[in-house]
Amino acid sequence: MKICEIFKSIQGESSYSGLPFIFVRFTGCNLRCAYCDTTYAYEEGYQISEKELLEKIKLYGINNVEITGGEPLLQNEVYALGDSLIKSGYTILLETNGTLDISRLNKKIIKVIDIKCPGSGESKKTEWNNLDKLDRKDEIKFVIMNRDDYVWTKRISEKFSLTEKFTVNLSPAFKYLKPQELARWILEDNLTVRLNLQLHKYIWKGVERGV
Ligand code: SF4
Repeated sequence: MKICEIFKSIQGESSYSGLPFIFVRFTGCNLRCAYCDTTYAYEEGYQISEKELLEKIKLYGINNVEITGGEPLLQNEVYALGDSLIKSGYTILLETNGTLDISRLNKKIIKVIDIKCPGSGESKKTEWNNLDKLDRKDEIKFVIMNRDDYVWTKRISEKFSLTEKFTVNLSPAFKYLKPQELARWILEDNLTVRLNLQLHKYIWKGVERGV
């Protein structure tokens, strides 16, 4: 498989925010979101075998692993890797952009599906059938660039009863929307969602990789 980077950091997103995690970032993405902050992951990276990767993960000495990208589901090797990590007792979060079928993933993996809003420029590629393949432990994330994205997110959440079924995270697109603004809209509408700040960007201001 080709990975872009592996590092230990503080989880900055989802309901696991604040916990130490090992991040495995896969190379390659089938989208080009307007706000993408990991453009280096489109191409950069190196080949690594599953065995080597498992050894590297073990050396970090913690039990939480996030598989991310890019888009990790573009590489077939991710499925066997997920199975091996689950078998070894790791807690696995896998973040996907929601455009590819998730049904081959190990059921014990906690999926975080990023539903792309119109502002990203990629919202028409969402594979909506994935929502039927999630369970209560899985999470949904929306990255909000502006008020239009927020209104669209509310409509989609209602249409699919998302907040009744899953943890729903709303994240202001960094550099595009102030957290205060999104917080105000959530409070005005009494939404049962989590305001998702990319914690690592506040802890390590200006550092773009390895955090
Ligand atoms: S899905 Fe993620 S990695 Fe791919 S372009 Fe969008 S933000 Fe970037």
